[in-house]
Amino acid sequence: MPEQPSSLYSDWKKIYPRYQTGFFRRLRWSLVAFFLGLYYLLPVVRWQRAEGLPDQAVLFDLPARKFYMFDIVIWPQDIFLLAIVLIAAALALFFMTALAGRIFCGYMCFQTVWTDLFLYVEKFFEGNRKQRIKLDSEGWSLRKFFIKVAKHIVWIIIGIATGVAFVFYFVDAPTMFWQFMDGTAPGPAWFTLFFITITTYIMAGIAREQVCIYMCPYARFQGAMFDEDSLIIAYHPELGEPRESNRRIRENSKTKTGLCIDCNACVTVCPTGIDIRNGQQYECITCGACIDACDTVKDRMNMKKKLIRYTSMREIQGEKTQWFRPRILIYGALLTIFIGGISIYLAIKSPLSLNVIKHRQPIYIMQSDGSIQNNFTIRILNMYPKARTFSLEVAGLPNVSLSVVAVDDFDSQKRPLITVPSGAVMTFTLFLKQQKNSIESGSKPITFLLRATDNSDDTFSYDSKFMRP
Ligand code: SF4
Ligand code: SF4
Repeated sequence: MPEQPSSLYSDWKKIYPRYQTGFFRRLRWSLVAFFLGLYYLLPVVRWQRAEGLPDQAVLFDLPARKFYMFDIVIWPQDIFLLAIVLIAAALALFFMTALAGRIFCGYMCFQTVWTDLFLYVEKFFEGNRKQRIKLDSEGWSLRKFFIKVAKHIVWIIIGIATGVAFVFYFVDAPTMFWQFMDGTAPGPAWFTLFFITITTYIMAGIAREQVCIYMCPYARFQGAMFDEDSLIIAYHPELGEPRESNRRIRENSKTKTGLCIDCNACVTVCPTGIDIRNGQQYECITCGACIDACDTVKDRMNMKKKLIRYTSMREIQGEKTQWFRPRILIYGALLTIFIGGISIYLAIKSPLSLNVIKHRQPIYIMQSDGSIQNNFTIRILNMYPKARTFSLEVAGLPNVSLSVVAVDDFDSQKRPLITVPSGAVMTFTLFLKQQKNSIESGSKPITFLLRATDNSDDTFSYDSKFMRP
């Protein structure tokens, strides 16, 4: 008989992680509560802003191309910040991975957080690992049908809540809530809600560990950020081996046995279905469930030694973990620079943008009375939370007159007064004329000055040139 070629694909086997209490489970629940609370509640938090501005604390206002985050407002011209924030996020991930391995996967990744919640719902309806395996292996009955339907309904409700919260980040949350309620929400909102509901349901309810093992690119390239001092979760074979499950043999054996009683507790709790005793595996998301499982077994047996724990490859080899090493310092320094840069930029960012463009056609105009005129376009963006009025003047050029097209309001010194509403960009054409008796030849540097007319000292300037024959 010809030999059958072996398949390159293995069948998907459903994993039934056993629910395990312990220190790392408590830590993960705290983080799940924190991240889910943050995600679901942030868009409903109100924030006091000037009249006419949204009162939502966090809002991605796509039509206005503005991002509100408490007192910080990101404008379209700050969009480069997005790239810097993404680089800073990547650096934070590199730093975290070099320092503590896949700690992000185990405790912070949205896939892990939502999967934890979905698994808890599954346990609530179907029971712990043994009951779930039993339920799935038995035939369909009314009881099984109701249990399964109830579980999927709760999963879908969580998916809908996730989708609704996601939409809330882009629109006024209370308005959209009532629009969802009375069915008048716009099409894109319904589509986003449907898309997020379905992806949450599939990723956290059905695909689960498959996302971490096969879909997530981070699992593949994180090895490049690891070194022998990075934190990992490892089984200590020098303590555990040779493992022996039979108590009588363990206690009476003349040959020495290890501390591992081969109870499989560490395997049954693993959400990715691996056996950590087989060594480091890329499927391990360092969730700590196997530590809790083994510690519980060891506590029951009154054993102080930890067979599975957070450690590093260097520590396994009997040396001390080096925390301060070049890659940690470099990632840390770069991260500090990026976060510092973003913070300084946001702190000193001017709430007004002034731009003056010199007209080049013609470069200057010789008037019949011998004066020289230059034309400019002035563009003012007011990012203050209120309308502001400014007087406009020019410094650096004697004997000039300044007129702004469509502005016929002047202060006591005959300077044009320009009012710009909050959040508006206004563009004007302006004529700058120098009288004949003051004219010298060549170009002359000048400065446009916008001075606030309220009691503040706010002044904004823009350097340009006045062109002459
Ligand atoms: S081996 Fe342990 S730490 Fe790694 S994923 Fe499984 S249970 Fe979590
Ligand atoms: S939980 Fe601990 S004792 Fe049990 S099999 Fe795993 S390593 Fe061995």
